[in-house]
Amino acid sequence: MAHVQIAIDGPSGAGKSSISKAVAKALGIVYVDTGALYRTIGYYARSQGITLDEIGKIVPLLGNVHIEVKYEDGVQCVYLNGENLGDRIRENEISMYASKVSALPEVRAFLLDTQKDIARKNSVIMDGRDIGTVILPDAQVKVFMTASAEARARRRFIELVQKGMPQPYEVVLADILERDHADSSREVAPAVAAPDATVFDNSDFDLEGSIAELLNIIRRTLAEKGIELA
Ligand code: C5P
Repeated sequence: MAHVQIAIDGPSGAGKSSISKAVAKALGIVYVDTGALYRTIGYYARSQGITLDEIGKIVPLLGNVHIEVKYEDGVQCVYLNGENLGDRIRENEISMYASKVSALPEVRAFLLDTQKDIARKNSVIMDGRDIGTVILPDAQVKVFMTASAEARARRRFIELVQKGMPQPYEVVLADILERDHADSSREVAPAVAAPDATVFDNSDFDLEGSIAELLNIIRRTLAEKGIELA
């Protein structure tokens, strides 16, 4: 049967990646974290000494960027010019770089085929900002996952502590609000819900509850469309 495409969009820190990862495992399909691709370009920009206010300087350098996505033991690894960057792309400053580079149409175009290609070869649950609108407009299931800014900042705060990169809560919240604004007001691919997406606000759900609810939404939508997962 044809591959199944599940698109998960929504703002930073809504838990898209942890929830989607668990759901991918439960359904036996591939989880694709597209934010990691923008983070990788952001990482490269910083490594070239480009500052946040002159981010356009990355565009002429894109020809030097070779990105590969590999799955090692079910974990997505992004290689930049042959090197696996691992958790280095998770740093808070790289989040800001990712947000900046992702507003450049040239960067979005540069990453388009990489994303479409993975979905051509596998059944996927792909998370990002424009998956249901631009990357996989024909996805059988589209979910816009969101949560209040405070709930998202609390979760990100804990994640950064666990990764050994702590930041004050106020800084994390301010960054989330700034990124929300930048992501939803930009001219190219603003982070908005696809008209045919199911909106899932998980502010009052814990991780387990969110996973169960996303599985419900997916199973219900597929059943309504008469689609069976292989
Ligand atoms: O999802 P994550 O927080 O890792 O994404 C980092 C940044 O990359 C986001 O702030 C957003 O600006 C950008 N992004 C995007 N489109 C995607 C995924 C991420 O613009 N599909």
